Amino acid sequence: MQFGELVKALAAVESTTQRSVMVKLLASLFKKALPEEIDKVIYLILGDLRPPWEGLELGVGEKLCLRALAKATGTSQAELESLYKKTGDIGEAARRSLASSKRPGLLTFGSQKPLEVSEVYDTLLKVARASGEGAQDMKIALLSSLFARSSPEEGKYIARFVVGKLRLGVADMTIIEALADAYGVRKEDLERAYHVYPDLGHLAKLVASGKPLDEVKVTPGVPVLPMLAQRLSSSSEILAKLGGTAICEYKYDGERAQIHISQSGVRIFSRRLEDITHAYPDVVKAVKEAVMAREAILEGEIVAVDPDTGEMLPFQELMHRKRKHEVVAAMEMYPTVLYLFDVIFVDGEDLTNEPLIYRRVKLSEIVQESDKVQIAKWLMLDDPDSVDVFFHEAVSVGTEGLICKSPTSEYEMGARGWNWIKYKRDYKSEMIDTVDLVVVGAFYGRGKRAGLYGAFLLAAYDPSSDMFYTVCKVGSGFTDADLKKMYEILQPLKIPHRHPRVSSKMEADVWFVPQVVIEVIGAEITLSPLHTCCLGAVRPGVGLAVRFPRFTGRYRTDKGPEQATTVAEMLELYKRQKKVAQPE
Ligand code: AMP
Repeated sequence: MQFGELVKALAAVESTTQRSVMVKLLASLFKKALPEEIDKVIYLILGDLRPPWEGLELGVGEKLCLRALAKATGTSQAELESLYKKTGDIGEAARRSLASSKRPGLLTFGSQKPLEVSEVYDTLLKVARASGEGAQDMKIALLSSLFARSSPEEGKYIARFVVGKLRLGVADMTIIEALADAYGVRKEDLERAYHVYPDLGHLAKLVASGKPLDEVKVTPGVPVLPMLAQRLSSSSEILAKLGGTAICEYKYDGERAQIHISQSGVRIFSRRLEDITHAYPDVVKAVKEAVMAREAILEGEIVAVDPDTGEMLPFQELMHRKRKHEVVAAMEMYPTVLYLFDVIFVDGEDLTNEPLIYRRVKLSEIVQESDKVQIAKWLMLDDPDSVDVFFHEAVSVGTEGLICKSPTSEYEMGARGWNWIKYKRDYKSEMIDTVDLVVVGAFYGRGKRAGLYGAFLLAAYDPSSDMFYTVCKVGSGFTDADLKKMYEILQPLKIPHRHPRVSSKMEADVWFVPQVVIEVIGAEITLSPLHTCCLGAVRPGVGLAVRFPRFTGRYRTDKGPEQATTVAEMLELYKRQKKVAQPE
């Protein structure tokens, strides 16, 4: 196919205001393409030389594009820049400069064979692949040779393509419809294949050469469209929808990761199927160590954790991974844990049609859990109260709630169905004041904190029973000096068992006589079955906890343990918290 023909179709697509016309225009263009070039036609229309998840970048900025144009047309760089400024469209600048150019000493448009789609595509691929020393010059030379041979209208689209501003508004679904129309295949079949193998160039080639779409298989290295969840806000509704029994999992608050292990190594894809491997070299390494399979596709959530305590942090902390030059530093300051919740392919076996319960068993068989790779915490539950208790536990430890899943469900690629239902809060609260809590126990530290305590178990006071009830485990907010000091002041208070005036469901590594009081702030006060403070006061089976607690740096040496925040005050604080709406 001549490139001019593609360009004509693009211009028509650009000028239409009706989607149905757009589909028709594309379908008739596709019909004219040969099976060996249809993929190139499609990639050029979509503005990416390869499916986006391959992460191939042209590496051509506006400056470089203008330099290539200058070289091809003999127009000065300054003139081109002002043309670009005036029109605001690099394509228009290219078109005008090519139209008015005398092409001095260069190739003369029309004096030779017209450009073919394949030539344009192959040259652009070379531009993308030029790397290392001299890559810039190479890119300019290749591009200017294209411009030198293109008509003004062709140059317009090449320029827009290379700087990533094609903006035709042609979505993948539009292409699917046009392909179905052009080749007489069912749209649903194409969609299904696209969920399994989201590479429209590849799929188009298959249908254009008359190959059946059911040959498209789940393939390590090629991301599948992820299964998505619906949402409901009551545990009884959720259980009813799922047929009475659910696999309930913590809903971790991080970045979804589809992890592919294949001969070419480990690759991580985001929920939107971008290749995010570069942001998580630590996850790649940990996966290699933890997963016992030659080939696999796993799903999980990457969560930022406190480097000192291993406790989960809100997902915003992962943003440090997004800036390329910061990844190495971020790995240390913001380490992560990968919580795996599904496996959809293992060593040649496609598990997407297997029930979830089977996949979870398989997952535990192939994963050897470590500090960095864990299996998402889950319970199989069949009564709403237990789901609620588990939900409160999930929230109190820093997750968003639960995802409840049908144990018999298949992995439905690309679907937002009722087999996965998220259970999270419509509102979250904001803790409005600090609290003064009593240190009743401690947990040994790891890494930098080895030999000291890494976290402390804190309690509120109940004057009526003269007991201390736990509200949180805190490890954040302590400087190195604080940790040494805490160790020293707690040493004389160490006892071999829980103090009789302490009520706790948690098992601390070390117990103390309740005496030391410290000031703590958290994100909010939540319900939690893990702590004994106000147990049953708001809901049966759950107490109150401080979510994301941190030491403020203030030792309340002015307060004895009986002057610490009381359980009644905790309840008041819980009730008086400011509520903020939670986004979807
Ligand atoms: P939402 O983004 O609110 O629609 O919730 C769905 C997202 O929750 C998924 O895309 C995952 O990133 C995340 N998630 C966290 N934990 C789980 C889990 N156990 N199962 C499935 N998705 C999870």
